[in-house]
Amino acid sequence: MRKFKTESKRLLDLMINSIYTNEEIFLRELISNASDAVDKLYFRSLTDSEVQLSKDELRILVSFDKDARTITVSDSGIGMTEEELDLNLGTIAHSGSIDFKNEAGDAADQPGGEIDIIGQFGVGFYSGFMVSDRVRVVSKAYGSDTAYAWESDGVKGYTIAEAARDGHGTDVVLTLRANTDENDYDSYLSEYKLKGLIKRYSNYIRYPILMEVSLSRELPRPEDADDDYEPQFEDYTELETINSMTPIWKRAKSEVTQEEYNEFYKSDFHDFTDPVRTASIHAEGALAYDALLFIPGREPFDFYSKDYKKGLALYSSNVLIMEKCEELIPDHFNFVRGIVDSQDLTLNISRETLQHNSQLRAIERKIEKKVKSELADMRDKDREEYEKFFENFGRTLKFGIYTGYGMNKDLLADLVLFYSAKQQKMVTLDEYLESALPDQDAIYYAAGDSTERLAKMPITTTVLNKGYDVLLCTQDVDEFCLGSLVDYQEKAFKNVAGGDLGLESEEEKTQAEEAAKENKDLFGAMADALGDKVTQVAVSTRLTDAPAALTSVGPISLEMEKILSQMPDGNEMMKSERVLELNAKHPVFETLQAAQKAGDADKVKRYADLLYGQALLVEGMPVDDPVAFALAVSELMV
Ligand code: ADP
Repeated sequence: MRKFKTESKRLLDLMINSIYTNEEIFLRELISNASDAVDKLYFRSLTDSEVQLSKDELRILVSFDKDARTITVSDSGIGMTEEELDLNLGTIAHSGSIDFKNEAGDAADQPGGEIDIIGQFGVGFYSGFMVSDRVRVVSKAYGSDTAYAWESDGVKGYTIAEAARDGHGTDVVLTLRANTDENDYDSYLSEYKLKGLIKRYSNYIRYPILMEVSLSRELPRPEDADDDYEPQFEDYTELETINSMTPIWKRAKSEVTQEEYNEFYKSDFHDFTDPVRTASIHAEGALAYDALLFIPGREPFDFYSKDYKKGLALYSSNVLIMEKCEELIPDHFNFVRGIVDSQDLTLNISRETLQHNSQLRAIERKIEKKVKSELADMRDKDREEYEKFFENFGRTLKFGIYTGYGMNKDLLADLVLFYSAKQQKMVTLDEYLESALPDQDAIYYAAGDSTERLAKMPITTTVLNKGYDVLLCTQDVDEFCLGSLVDYQEKAFKNVAGGDLGLESEEEKTQAEEAAKENKDLFGAMADALGDKVTQVAVSTRLTDAPAALTSVGPISLEMEKILSQMPDGNEMMKSERVLELNAKHPVFETLQAAQKAGDADKVKRYADLLYGQALLVEGMPVDDPVAFALAVSELMV
């Protein structure tokens, strides 16, 4: 028995004893090794005229034996000599420069630390021990007459002995572990399962991956068959190529039909709707990679839940390294699905190095640009489709503006749509400005739960009647998004329910100032009556028909307060500063003045409550005490 080198032993211990969640990747690792071995031999045949290969030597065979509980990955690659078996499979020769013992000692004690270590060294050949407790490798080096078998239980060490094998290449035979309560290793012993794993992880390996599959066929109908003849079948097996081999993303876009892209997208990303856009990048130079990007046609069912994980599949030389690499796609485009394949990235990238990987960041930036231009193109050339896209994913773009504190303004602001009250359709901010009045220096918006209600609100109609368009914002993120934008094309965003719209004429201003002065006592009495419900009672410069309205001053609007208070982590402290605005030209105002003049403090208080309650209802907010409010209304009637 030969002993494993200390480092290898520790890695094996980690691998076997850690709950490595993704054990099924063992097959990918073995197939990748097999593919590398075929690659090496193929390369030799290209450079050495003595090496002659037939085409069917360049292939990988996967098989299983239910009774023996084994899975075998065979290749007709370059093979290994006795020394190579000892060196390659007995030590972690390729990780020499890293001080494994230190790293493992520190990190393995942290939760999840094992996985990082495994990731850092590349799971490789050893991953076989995650599912099996006996690995036998039979290999014959190209040009050698003798085959050798390496065998190990993955615990103490391994043996190497002479063995028999036809031709050059390597067989890796895994004997599966006994099933446990948590792990059903037997599930790997099925054609369906193995085919699935090959398609999933190794679909784009350049060489055919063959499996013997069981099929059934109808026997020819005998010539003398009578009318009662029932079709007869026979079972047979056939070698089938499981993988598709040529990566679709490596092909020029002009060579692939949209139909093919759609099929690929749907099968690879488990969607049943075609993507609305497909884009590809073929980058050359210092960092060469291919990317294939899809914008889905509908939102995934879990898109707005916290279970949704963004990310693109990351391949290195056709081999899947990671299904969802989040570093490749920014949050504001988290709906994009796709693939990045680069031979310039190493297979054993760990979480740690990913996050600080400048190559990945360069790819991400390029992808961000590409997605932006696709979306802009769709917005300009296929508006209907874009509006559908926006219904699905618009919230993400707005959220991106909000969370970026305006950092993504240049990238995203011209992509967002809002409902225009004047044009009665979705518009971009540019389209809003195109229809703006010459003297207009702001972009007006109203925020609330429905466009119908917002369009009818007195504070909205006042602005509309002056000829200005108002964007009706009904999504929770809208106002926060506009708040982060601050302005667009140097026009500030203004909430029609905010203080100081600056739309009144000089005359209206003077009138309001006078009314404020004259009715100081009334406003004071009403403000006292309403207590801390409002910060102010004031005369309105914007109301025409309605007697009163609620507006706010300061950074938090009524709508924002509503949204913040609904958040699970309770932003109860975030309150708007409410102003009850009164229409001095409304008959109700005269009633109020009369009550104040007559010294009827009780009536002033009751009417203040009524007007406040009514204004709340118009805002789509509940009155504080519905019973008292209803009572007060019916009292008025009798
Ligand atoms: P890696 O593939 O990252 O180098 P592995 O632990 O998977 O690490 O494999 C170690 C080495 O063993 C490989 O570098 C290769 O030289 C050799 N090896 C593994 N599998 C095969 C195979 N099927 N044919 C030939 N050589 C192999």
